[in-house]
Amino acid sequence: ASFSNLSLAEPLARAVAEMGYETMTPIQAQAIPVVLAGRDVMGAAQTGTGKTAAFSLPLLQRMLKHENTSTSPARHPVRALVLLPTRELADQVAQQVKLYSKYTNLRSAVVFGGMDMKPQTAELKKGVEVLVATPGRLLDHIEAKNAVLNQVEYVVLDEADRMLDIGFLPDLQRILSYLPKQRTTLLFSATFSPEIKRLANSYLNDPVTIEV
Ligand code: AMP
Repeated sequence: ASFSNLSLAEPLARAVAEMGYETMTPIQAQAIPVVLAGRDVMGAAQTGTGKTAAFSLPLLQRMLKHENTSTSPARHPVRALVLLPTRELADQVAQQVKLYSKYTNLRSAVVFGGMDMKPQTAELKKGVEVLVATPGRLLDHIEAKNAVLNQVEYVVLDEADRMLDIGFLPDLQRILSYLPKQRTTLLFSATFSPEIKRLANSYLNDPVTIEV
């Protein structure tokens, strides 16, 4: 399946072409149409399968097609939140999101622990539509009122099994409690353990299951 069949918005199609992507990977071919159709997804996929584009491209497409219509005073409210277990993974995903969104006017940022809060705070205060984060540091920014999540429309729980292994479940539960109930939620995990299924049951709405 080719990216040209997706009728991606021109800025996204241009970025994908520039990166040399032609055919979709299996997770992309299965997940992208489902996410574009507005469904929640529970996906079994490892790093290296093209998972990042599988969720980033359809979410960016939906953000471009449906402007945020809230009357919130924030000029660039966080509309998409991507949670990952480690700073390395968060950094990698954030770099890919920047590449996919480079021809759009959507802004993105990444926040993770082990670094000074200040530069992250400055970026958050300017406003970003896509926020990539590790759970602990995101909570720090929420408590400091640097990150406001009441306009979030899209959530990705990436590497969810690793987030649970690290013990992030209470942090995830708190973060998810701050988000609007009406939203799209995507969960990716290498395995569908009973704990992952429980997480999905609590936070996903009638998800489509995808295994590659
Ligand atoms: P990921 O699994 O998201 O970490 O992606 C792994 C690598 O595959 C990244 O370097 C991507 O840039 C690359 N990639 C993702 N999708 C495609 C595609 N459809 N064609 C070629 N390369 C891709």
